[in-house]
This record gives sequence, C-alpha cells and structure tokens, in this order.
Amino acid sequence: MAANIIDGKALAHKLRETITEDVSQLRQDGVIPHLTVIIAGDDPASKSYVRGKEKATQQTGISFDVIDMPAAISEKELLDSIRELNHDKSVHGILVQLPLPEHIDEQNVIQTIHPDKDVDGFHPVNIGKLMSGQATFLPCTPYGIMTMLEAYNISVKGKHAVVIGRSRIVGRPVGQLLLNQDATVTYCHSKTHQLTAYAASADILITAVGKANMINSEAIKEGAVIIDVGMNRLDDGSLTGDVDFSSAAEKASYITPVPKGVGPMTITMLLKNTVQAAKGLSYFAG
Ligand code: NDP
Repeated sequence: MAANIIDGKALAHKLRETITEDVSQLRQDGVIPHLTVIIAGDDPASKSYVRGKEKATQQTGISFDVIDMPAAISEKELLDSIRELNHDKSVHGILVQLPLPEHIDEQNVIQTIHPDKDVDGFHPVNIGKLMSGQATFLPCTPYGIMTMLEAYNISVKGKHAVVIGRSRIVGRPVGQLLLNQDATVTYCHSKTHQLTAYAASADILITAVGKANMINSEAIKEGAVIIDVGMNRLDDGSLTGDVDFSSAAEKASYITPVPKGVGPMTITMLLKNTVQAAKGLSYFAG
C-alpha cells in the first residue's frame, strides 16, 4: 500500500487564511489581537522559534511583540512582567519561550500566566480542563494533530492509538485528546519493554520522541495512520522525523512527512488560540 500523505503545510495555509479573515473582522470591530512573547537568554534555537512566531502572526495581521530578557534575569522580575501583562487589556496571549535559564522555575512561570491568556495551553487549569474534557486552550502541537486527523476524516473512535513519548507538551496531551475522542490509548516511553510490539498493534501511531528513524516498517501495522512529531536534524543539515518515512509509507494508510507535516500546524494553532483569546473565548470550541 502506498500511504496518503497528510499535507500539514497545505492544511496550515488554508487555516491561516481563515485566521486572517477572523483577525480582519476583529480589527473592524475595534479589537487588535495581540500576542506577547517573553524570551530570556540567547539560545539561538529559541530565538529562531520566536522569529518564526513573529513572522506567522504578522502575516495574519495579529499584532506581536517580544520582551527580550537577559539570561541573568531574576525569577521575580520575570514573574512581575507576566503579572503586568496579565493586567494589560491590549494583550490577549502571553507565551514564555521555553526552555528558560536554569535558575528559573519553569512551573512557577507557567502558573503565573493568566489561564485566559495561556495560548500555549500549559497552565495547570487548562491542562485540568483538557483532562476533564472541558473546552479550553489546547497545547498547540496536540491541537494541530487533532485538527489534521479531523481534516482528513480520520475517526479515532474505538481505534487503538499508541503514543510514543510522554512529554507535557506533546505526548501526554495528545494521548488525552485521543482518549477524549474515544480512542483506546497506550503510552510508550523510554522505559517501555517490547515497544515494537505495542507500535505494531497501533491503528494510529503518534511518535514524539526525537530520535531519527527509530520506527521502521517492522513496527507498523498494515493500514495504520502515522503521525510523526519528531524533528531531528541530521549531520547533513536536513530534517527528519522519528519514523523511517519511505518504508513506513509502504504499509501505512496515512502518514505525515517531516518537514511539512506536524510542524506547520503547531504554529498555526498558536495563531488560532491567540484569535480565540482576543475574541474573549478562553476556550477551544471545536
Ligand atoms: P521530550 O524530550 O520532552 O520527550 C521525549 C519523549 O520520548 C520522552 O517521553 C521519552 O521518554 C521518550 N523517549 C526517549 N527515548 C525513547 C526511546 N528510545 N523509546 C521510547 N521513548 C523514548 O520531547 P518533546 O515531546 O518535547 O518532543 C519530541 C520530539 O518532537 C522532538 O523531536 C521535538 O523536536 C519534536 N517536536 C516537534 C514539534 C512540532 O511542531 N513538529 C513540537 C514539539 C516537539 P521518558 O519520558 O521515559 O524520558
């Protein structure tokens, strides 16, 4: 079987057109959707992610600013800035770029962002709502994955979904969202025995590990749907996923490529969350 390619880039483009229309309508109604990103330190990868967010927001008409803090900023100063933004009515979304310098407690930072401005969906209140199936801001990568499945009419109900990776930002929430939609979910991680056997029993396989080509066709069930979140930079500078794409594509029914799969969806869902926040809808409705 030759798998259908899930084209995240094309879907993201289509969604961004709708977001641009929403932003334009909000502006006509006198609301300028605004995202503020805080970055602390000089990590080149983080800087590059923030530039990507800036470009994407501006293309859709969302207003954007960055608060650039030195790596030596104290936790108190960082938290005070967030508190100010929480009270600033012109700011709808607040995102603190991770990772933070080691002396700053990431969880304190996340918990200081007001849940209604938490467009990353990492605040415990929003995670709790997600867990209990309530409408909320969803973390962007899991939200992007669910949007892709829906766009390709891939029902998860009753299916066995195997999620490899259990991070707070990808693995855990995507598994919970699949469960909320009636999938039977298995989580695998670095301590899992017989990982290949679990993967090979998946109707839907989500890989969020960060190890190039760790999954090959042996670990894939005939007709499975493969969502490859991994982003691994090879020595030649190219980007690849956690799944060996060419062998997997022979067995899968649907597969996401890397690049142009999950990646473009992640940033698109951040735009969507920011627009939702600007509409005063501190939740994901659909
Ligand atoms: P983390 O490093 O936080 O988590 C990785 C997970 O993989 C952990 O749960 C870890 O297990 C598990 N793991 C590590 N080695 C193995 C192994 N040999 N077998 C099974 N499981 C293993 O990563 P993230 O969740 O943040 O990101 C995962 C990947 O997704 C990365 O490549 C990242 O770049 C990419 N990514 C892509 C995004 C996109 O938009 N496309 C967005 C976010 C991330 P344990 O918990 O036991 O340590």
